[in-house]
Amino acid sequence: MIKTDILIIGGGAAGLSAGQYGARAGRDVVIVEALMIGGQLAYIDSIENYPGIDKPISGFEIAEMLQKQAEKFGTKIVYDEFVSFEKKNDTFFVKLNEDEVEAKTLIWATGAKHRHIDIPGEEELNGRGVSYCGTCDGAFFKNQTIFIVGGGDTALTDALFLNKLSDDVTIVHRRNRFRAQQNLIDLIEKSSIKTIMEVKPIEILGEDNKVSAIVLEDVNTGEKTTHKTKAVFIFAGMLPQTQLLPKELLDNYGYVNTNQNMETSIPGFYAIGDVRDTPFRQVITAASDGAIAAHSASEYIDNISGNSY
Ligand code: NAP
Repeated sequence: MIKTDILIIGGGAAGLSAGQYGARAGRDVVIVEALMIGGQLAYIDSIENYPGIDKPISGFEIAEMLQKQAEKFGTKIVYDEFVSFEKKNDTFFVKLNEDEVEAKTLIWATGAKHRHIDIPGEEELNGRGVSYCGTCDGAFFKNQTIFIVGGGDTALTDALFLNKLSDDVTIVHRRNRFRAQQNLIDLIEKSSIKTIMEVKPIEILGEDNKVSAIVLEDVNTGEKTTHKTKAVFIFAGMLPQTQLLPKELLDNYGYVNTNQNMETSIPGFYAIGDVRDTPFRQVITAASDGAIAAHSASEYIDNISGNSY
């Protein structure tokens, strides 16, 4: 049985930042992480926009820095899986797979997973040419034809990464303009990456159990075209990892509703990072959420202990 002031579920940028700020506020802090510290951050090849870090740095390196800093101030990291929680009086009773925790506050920082586009061939060929992570799987397709689905920041960032490995990269997008940041669009335009706009992928074909082609449909004319490729990278957005939370905390898309203090409708329960209903999902905004939630949690603990001023 673990007892702590602040229990954080999820060790990505948001959770690690909350850990650091909570520990620096003099609280006992435990972060529970199911898999690997860093979350989505660990898969980002190159980050150039984190304030103060004036050279490209991998997400993995930032994750390591955040972890070291949180641990330096006393945050403990436990590798286990969240199962359920209930709140009685002012205490959260949390069940993990292998342990139980009593916590005064709970911060939900589980992030989001890759959305699938549910077309024939996607699941069957997942890991056999279909991928959701350029930095993880790009090396398998060095100098091969690569197709990328999506028009957001991830699609364009990973396209630029994959273009370092292959000159034959094509982005397909269902609209006539990308939704990604302008600087990424500019970099794509300057690169050798090809784009096919206003098409939707309708099937991924395989040969010998590996991706062999992608079938696209023109959204205006309905015309179908088949393009040979070895790889289809799909970047269709994220699904917040909130399935284990009470439905009343969530909006229609499954994101957690919070106020500006990161508070949910349960006192002492906070949500931060990609699980939150936020207009902009970046490492910096996740870290900022973490700092705010740790501060709010610390004030809340003062209030329930009668120490507020
Ligand atoms: P996103 O912004 O939600 O973009 C998802 C893309 O996939 C959209 O272009 C969407 O098309 C397309 N899409 C969704 N479902 C589809 C389907 N069934 N078939 C075809 N296309 C489909 O997701 P994201 O790019 O992963 O970005 C998530 C968040 O992380 C964003 O807030 C982003 O700013 C942030 N991020 C930032 C950086 C960076 O700063 N370097 C890097 C990566 C991610 P529509 O446009 O038509 O909706």
